[in-house]
Amino acid sequence: MTTTSNFIPVNEPLLDGNELGYVSECIKTGWISSEGSFVDRFEKGLAEFIGRCHGIAVANGTVALDLAVAVLGIGPGDEVILPTHTIISCAAAIVRAGAKPVVVDSDPTTWNMSVAAIESRITSRTRAIMAVHIFSLPVDMDPVLDLARKHNLYVIEDASQMIGQSYKNRRCGSFGDVSTFSFYPNKHITTGEGGMLLCNDGRLAERARSFRNLCFQPGRRFVHEELGWNFRISNLQAALGLAQLETLPSHLILKRKNGEYFRSALADVPGLDLPPLDQPYALNLYWVFGVMLQDEVPFDANGAMSRLAEKGIGTRSFFWPMHEQPVFIKMGLFGNEHHPFAERMARRGFYIPSGLGMTEEQRTRVVEAVRAVLMP
Ligand SMILES: *Cc1c(COP(=O)(O)O)cnc(C)c1O
Repeated sequence: MTTTSNFIPVNEPLLDGNELGYVSECIKTGWISSEGSFVDRFEKGLAEFIGRCHGIAVANGTVALDLAVAVLGIGPGDEVILPTHTIISCAAAIVRAGAKPVVVDSDPTTWNMSVAAIESRITSRTRAIMAVHIFSLPVDMDPVLDLARKHNLYVIEDASQMIGQSYKNRRCGSFGDVSTFSFYPNKHITTGEGGMLLCNDGRLAERARSFRNLCFQPGRRFVHEELGWNFRISNLQAALGLAQLETLPSHLILKRKNGEYFRSALADVPGLDLPPLDQPYALNLYWVFGVMLQDEVPFDANGAMSRLAEKGIGTRSFFWPMHEQPVFIKMGLFGNEHHPFAERMARRGFYIPSGLGMTEEQRTRVVEAVRAVLMP
């Protein structure tokens, strides 16, 4: 895509807090590696904010999921249930551990994993449910937790898209055995690249710290009992994270306002489904502003996205379902499964710019462009 001076990118971060000061401190003191004190401060800060005992910061949200699967000891012969509409990182973590991803469709009302579809997919091999909060509303967690208790399953909560959001007055990322976060630039907290695993169990936390750091041993550093990874985060990234944690509450208010603005400005556009409404268990904080084209619209998401690009508006398609991924089909996974709503989301859904750095003028231009594309 060409970037012109007035092109509106799908996301621009807002770094308006102590980012520069904290990063400068790293540089002035020479503490730039993962040994610096911002890592610990960011881990403790986020864990406390979310309501967890332990935080283990890592290089990105993808490896946070790898770590989650590893610390729970999930491996060959095991199955993990997850939504088919999600980022590849979720299924990849399961597959790389040698376990089998088992997917469910999404719910048309919330665009999140269909909680009602989970139980029928539980087998004697199921070890965990991976609940992934999608776009703007959390997964309905209570029924997921009930099922996990009933069938003795672990819960992995991927809260990457829902940092600071609440489900029934508890923060997303405080549910389940372990939860994961991403701090990619479009997330509510960004460190450029970064991620975190949160948990309450001290044993799991210790295991995660060891796996993150090549399983070096305290007494005999270069003698290894297990294989780990280098998933460490740098002090520079953690410095950004701490600054972003401080501004998170005000940024979440901006996100919600941005979403409400688009919702009212696009309410009368024919053929356009707007993001899910607030639910009794959670407000929509509009991490992104996703829309779906109804059947009457004669083009699909790609058609809409290229028409918007011509008008200088950046967009992003929805996730392509896991059960339709060539890489997994080639591995013999998923067979001939169909999950109609997730398939429809992939073909008819996309999101418009919603970065925190957006100006009023840019918002107006986005609305005008969407209206022009759908009401020519
Ligand atoms: C962004 C994201 C990830 C991956 O995070 P990276 O930091 O980009 O590796 C994982 N899960 C979800 C739900 C995400 O939105």
